[in-house]
Amino acid sequence: MAGRRPDFDEDTSRVKRVKVEENGYSKTDPANNPYLAHWDSADMKNDPVNSADRLYKFKRHATTAKEAKAAEDGPINPFTGTTLSSRYMSILKKRRELPVHVQRDEFLELYQRSQILVFVGETGSGKTTQIPQFVLFDDLPHLNAKMVACTQPRRVAAMSVAQRVAEEMDVELGDEVGYSIRFEDKTSPKTMLKYMTDGMLLREAMHDNNLTRYSTIILDEAHERTLATDILMALLKDLVLRRTDLKLIIMSATLDATKFQKYFHDAPLLAVPGRTHPVEIFYTPEPERDYVEAALRTVLQIHATEPEGDILLFLTGEEEIEDACRKINLEVDEMIREANAGPLVVYPLYGTLPPQQQQRIFKPAPPPREPGGRPGRKCIVSTNIAETSLTIDGIVYVVDPGFSKQKVYNPRIRVESLLVSPISKASAQQRAGRAGRTKPGKCFRLYTEAAFKKELIEQTYPEVLRSNLASTVLELKKLGIEDLVHFDLMDPPAPETLMRALEELYYLNCLNNDGDLTPLGETASEFPLDPALAVMLIQSPRFFCSNEILSLAALLSVPQIFVRPASQRKRADEMKDLFAHPEGDHLTMLNVYHAFKGEDAQENPKQWCHDHFVSYRSLQQADNVRLQLKRIMERTEIELMSMPFSHKKYYENIRQALVAGFFMQVAKRDGSGKSYVTVKDDQTVLLHPSTVLGQDSEWVVYNEFVLTTKNYIRTVTAVKPEWLLEISSVYYDLD
Ligand code: ADP
Ligand code: MG
Repeated sequence: MAGRRPDFDEDTSRVKRVKVEENGYSKTDPANNPYLAHWDSADMKNDPVNSADRLYKFKRHATTAKEAKAAEDGPINPFTGTTLSSRYMSILKKRRELPVHVQRDEFLELYQRSQILVFVGETGSGKTTQIPQFVLFDDLPHLNAKMVACTQPRRVAAMSVAQRVAEEMDVELGDEVGYSIRFEDKTSPKTMLKYMTDGMLLREAMHDNNLTRYSTIILDEAHERTLATDILMALLKDLVLRRTDLKLIIMSATLDATKFQKYFHDAPLLAVPGRTHPVEIFYTPEPERDYVEAALRTVLQIHATEPEGDILLFLTGEEEIEDACRKINLEVDEMIREANAGPLVVYPLYGTLPPQQQQRIFKPAPPPREPGGRPGRKCIVSTNIAETSLTIDGIVYVVDPGFSKQKVYNPRIRVESLLVSPISKASAQQRAGRAGRTKPGKCFRLYTEAAFKKELIEQTYPEVLRSNLASTVLELKKLGIEDLVHFDLMDPPAPETLMRALEELYYLNCLNNDGDLTPLGETASEFPLDPALAVMLIQSPRFFCSNEILSLAALLSVPQIFVRPASQRKRADEMKDLFAHPEGDHLTMLNVYHAFKGEDAQENPKQWCHDHFVSYRSLQQADNVRLQLKRIMERTEIELMSMPFSHKKYYENIRQALVAGFFMQVAKRDGSGKSYVTVKDDQTVLLHPSTVLGQDSEWVVYNEFVLTTKNYIRTVTAVKPEWLLEISSVYYDLD
């Protein structure tokens, strides 16, 4: 056996396959493809003939001495030329057991035969990690200098899955397998499989309408119906007609596949039967008053009384989750002391969690404290991410309070906000399903059975029906879609929402009277930012502060920079006061950023952030975002400038530049002096308690409208009314 590396020259791949198909044999022949051969061999380690030999069968050219040497130690990785690690072999074994594996041939046959394919499978069946690899090794896109893309609605999922698949393929993350999310691109010229957020693929489409870099596009988690996935579906539906060589796979977890099939010109469907175990469902007899409290109680009760198995608790957001983790830890310590309970480790999981911490959820549960002692468990407290995006093996108990944070949009008052809302029946079913991955499980629903039947809607509404579409409309205009009304979306948005979006873009001067993109709109669409933020940035040289506005745009694009742990609120607030600018939160954030970039802080930035109760990770991220936005500014020739810091108009100019983007988000203090009223939309709001601003500012510009039991505006800065008219006469002259 020669130590040769198959390099997939023409006779091993596409050309050959076509010939094979001409002979009426359409099934992929593993003998034609070393990677497929891999999967088929009974046991790589004990069956070298059936594995390694087949791996090199098609090698035509001599390889390097290094590779020959590597091959002596075992099968080599066809992409890297190095010996495959033992880890590869052990993961491979697990992968072969995944449900999708049984249908690999069937899948490949359909994939080859049809341009579009709908693929449905239970969460955890191996869709996200395996299907792209099936495609990759069958399609060999790199031979044609193309890539396979697999979209994910969530950044966390894109990162985590890319990491896992890089391990499965025994390559470095960022080389052959990479990911691309907003403001972070972990790919290289070697990349042939790219996991990316649906939003990123949409942005790429803006620059390359035909998505020519890709040979196959996989839209994963289509059932989530995110805004970007819906838009992509509409674009791709059209694109497949123009690019007959492009393959499209729609993957979804729920069984509502016929809707996708119909939409995509009656595409064929392949469904992997689930291999889940039965899950027993329990409801509370009475409605719970405080779902977090009830959830904690349930988790502790499971730990105290139920047999071995991990717990998954669904909560709604970072703060709630961190708080719950802390409380569970406290209580469990007590349980262990008093009732001799087994060890329990608690892991949070949410979108803004640093990647290393995300990976911890896959660690096995802790062992008993002494041999033969009570078994240990892990408890994962997660947002909706764990509903279908990430699969964690070993979960036996699911605690479902029945809520998630969902985007809501009210076009009448132009407020888009994240609101804790009841989930749908479909979501509840998905959540319950997570308990039956490895053995029979239990799901504790913290609501009554009657509520489940009568109050939960069947399916969550698609995001396109719950969003402000200004950003989307700008993207579509840039994509050359003129007729928005007839754009073939799976669920068309309400006409009022569309009107509002067009109106908003018109006021921002991104669209003209005829609804066409203006030069400002063209430039704004280059930025991966909300239109108001982009416009603020583009207009900032008018106010001689584009450097500062650039920093602010970055700061507003990352998670909250101020840290306020429950146990040290007072100290955190004192620290924040050090940076506070009397005229507002934006300026305060800018002060933090400047201090962070200063010499003192840079000596030991991590420590400095810790001492000052600001998030090192957020500031670092802001730095990165700033750099990327700066590149776009350079490319679009937006001048970078600052006023001298000592200039008396330094801060005033920044405040004016804020208005240039956010003039539609202004509020005026009302007669009582306690609350504010949003200008034009007449909503009564309060300043968010986190603000540094006192009540003495009559006019304020705000970054965000927060809906809770009361309406708050968050991140606010004082402005002067005369600026409003000056800066946006079109908007303010109207009535
Ligand atoms: P699906 O997309 O159908 O929900 P996935 O492809 O995401 O399924 O996952 C298939 C299996 O791969 C999971 O059940 C799990 O066993 C394994 N897996 C996925 N990601 C990881 C990871 N980061 N670490 C360990 N195992 C993982
Ligand atoms: Mg998946």
